[in-house]
Amino acid sequence: MARFDNTKFIFVTGGVSSSLGKGLTASSLGRLLKSRGFKITMCKLDPYLNVDPGTMNPFEHGEVFVTEDGGETDLDLGHYERFIDENLYKDSNATTGSIYQTVIAKERRGDYLGRTVQVIPHITDEIKSRVKRLVMNDVDFVICEVGGTVGDIEIVPFLESIRQFRSDVGRENVCYIHLTLVPYLAPSGEHKTKPTQHSVTELRGRGIQPDIIVCRSDQPLPSGLKRKISLLCDVSIDGVISAVDAESIYEIPINMHEEGLDTVICKLLNIDTNDHPIDLAGWKDMLDKAKSSQKEVKIGIIGKYVNLPDAYLSVVEALRHSGFKHGVKVEPVYIQAESVIDLIDSHSEIYTGDFEQPVKSLDELDGIVIPGGFGERGVEGKIAAADYARVKNIPCLGICLGLQVMVCSYARSKGGLTDANSTEFNPATRNPVIDLMESQSEVADKGGTMRLGSYVAKLAPGSRVFELYGDEVVSERHRHRYEVNPNFHSRLLEAGLIFSGMSPDKKLVEFIEIDNHPFWVGTQAHPEFKSRPDRPHPLFVGLIYAAIDRSESKSARLIDLDTV
Ligand code: GLN
Repeated sequence: MARFDNTKFIFVTGGVSSSLGKGLTASSLGRLLKSRGFKITMCKLDPYLNVDPGTMNPFEHGEVFVTEDGGETDLDLGHYERFIDENLYKDSNATTGSIYQTVIAKERRGDYLGRTVQVIPHITDEIKSRVKRLVMNDVDFVICEVGGTVGDIEIVPFLESIRQFRSDVGRENVCYIHLTLVPYLAPSGEHKTKPTQHSVTELRGRGIQPDIIVCRSDQPLPSGLKRKISLLCDVSIDGVISAVDAESIYEIPINMHEEGLDTVICKLLNIDTNDHPIDLAGWKDMLDKAKSSQKEVKIGIIGKYVNLPDAYLSVVEALRHSGFKHGVKVEPVYIQAESVIDLIDSHSEIYTGDFEQPVKSLDELDGIVIPGGFGERGVEGKIAAADYARVKNIPCLGICLGLQVMVCSYARSKGGLTDANSTEFNPATRNPVIDLMESQSEVADKGGTMRLGSYVAKLAPGSRVFELYGDEVVSERHRHRYEVNPNFHSRLLEAGLIFSGMSPDKKLVEFIEIDNHPFWVGTQAHPEFKSRPDRPHPLFVGLIYAAIDRSESKSARLIDLDTV
């Protein structure tokens, strides 16, 4: 049972322009309401036709965020989890594609008893049921972000659904937030409200009067302008919230609180704020610590999607969280995997397409992450980076594909298997140290063969990962098809590779590491999805700790040279 008689629903729409930060606004509101003691869940309705983002190219859509229950979801869910610190579900992300899939499957089964199946009411009912389904485990609030921009063709069924929602669950239980852009025109020296007015008119045309307008702008909105928006858009003055660009995304909840966003939500939903005082002390402490960090460590991300940093969003956030803990700023350095070999060989500046390599040598880095990925391009570069990090004592964390390339590199240089490879990249290799498991290779449909979601691993007492996690049994989220090939386990162990974590049946390698190295650790899972700003993930904590060490000994060496 929820604490209220009824769960409250907050819908967040966006207007004027895409990429205004609806996800971060929604997440920040989630954090504020959680800090008032409420139980929150969040969801995203996405107007595209893909059934889920699992098949989408990271170049186009950024990373795929994996939930505990194996949902392949929009990257905004990563922000939600990081801000509200609650696990979400596969069901927390619904796309037009998945909604139509459900409705069409019902139609084929005859569930509609011969009636004509239409957008209204069948699609809209399905959309509403996706949101209502999330009311469980005592949730007080469901915060639901509608993807896309008001005015888009595809968004219309979603707007109709959230409009109907209010009369379905009671007016006093629903609140609409509309996020818009208020541009500043330098020549006239003014903020312009016209785009906001048009966007609200468009929303009203769909039957939704926003209760709150969050205005993105590069400078705080003067009070006169707030009054103008209030008057012209028919929103109370305290419902006009100014959202200026923040230095760090984690400051947005504080800014939104200062603007009164959570207070006005409580007022609109008849919640007495005195009964639910806010406690942001922990969050503020974390921010203070983050802001006070002077030192910087450079962490190279050896990837293939480096032109679109959103492809590694959770990895970068996880690195930052560990930086907060250690009091250092983490500078992510995106390195095009394809050119790593040149970078190692020539130590010269390399250009790959329109991507300028940000370092001249991997030696400049304090640490390296080899993140997950699919497909052959850049793999040899990643293997070379893993090898270089091992030989040159550069702290290195391999994630999923990262573990797999570490194993290939180790098998080649220490195991005498010079053509060791993954069958994903060379199906004909004589030494397939990474391969599909039998159960997987038999399934023709690749979409159905991934190991997805949370799996448990048992860590080896005394290992680096055991020490970092401080636990023997750990659970991490997975998203991959290939595994370390059991036929090569003994060969790799003999060569000195440590399997520091295995699946409970001991068949699958979950973690690897080596001795006598500052940090050379790989995991078959995706630890980045479980890192939180105030609770960084142990593996990233270990990497950043080793990176700080490297950076300090580098500067000590430089001081030494100076004094010679
Ligand atoms: N392509 C590899 C596999 O499918 C790794 C996947 C990943 O890094 N997420 O096993």
